[in-house]
Amino acid sequence: EPNSPAYGRVLVKVSGEALMGSEAFGLHWPTIERIARDLVEAKDSGAEIAVVVGGGNILRGASVAGEGLDRATADHMGMLATVMNALALEKAVEHAGSPARTLSAIPMPTICEPYARQTAARHLSRGRIVLLAGGTGNPYFTTDTGAVLRAAELECNAVMKATNVDGVYTADPKLDPSATRYDRLSHDEALAKDLKVMDAAAFALAREARLPIVVFSIREPGAIAAAVRGQGRATTVAP
Ligand code: UDP
Repeated sequence: EPNSPAYGRVLVKVSGEALMGSEAFGLHWPTIERIARDLVEAKDSGAEIAVVVGGGNILRGASVAGEGLDRATADHMGMLATVMNALALEKAVEHAGSPARTLSAIPMPTICEPYARQTAARHLSRGRIVLLAGGTGNPYFTTDTGAVLRAAELECNAVMKATNVDGVYTADPKLDPSATRYDRLSHDEALAKDLKVMDAAAFALAREARLPIVVFSIREPGAIAAAVRGQGRATTVAP
């Protein structure tokens, strides 16, 4: 069936940068609405959708840490940025026609629910799109690691990594015009060939958990729904 999901429960990683569209900073509302519609379409094909949202469109800890601002505090600020993005996406998802809940790894119960595995699983099974904010809740990590961690503990079938490129290449296609794209490769191959699929901590966890990672471009409208159906241009990293 062309419109049925290839994966029953997935974790979609949306970077902060994806939310700024053509802007240089912050939130580009038409882009957020487009991504929200795409998430709802993916859910309507029958999959359960959890989303880990980044914060790079607002603040990255490593970039602002320095004199007078220690890295851990800067990372706390970065995690707060992901909460802002998740709240924006939650409203856009609701506007696009699906119930949604934001769960934060850093408890802030006056604005969203604190993350707990059971709570997230319950919302997913009830057909809500779950926005997971705050990454792992710890400094020195990234939202890519948060995405793999949540995917593993929520027993998702795959991490769908929405990026600016349509997959994993033999070399950086911007620097090397002869670079070719993989349709499929194993975690071990990616590691042996030093292909950067995710940061090292995130990738190591995915490999350990034997979790497939689907890398695809979010630039095309409908790309998330296509990836969830196992269609469209993508690289699948799987054992
Ligand atoms: N962050 C963190 N721990 C986490 C996830 C994120 O400290 O588990 C902070 C970190 O400062 C990071 C920022 O939040 O730079 C934004 O996340 P990230 O850079 O992963 O966002 P993306 O690149 O996906 O937009």
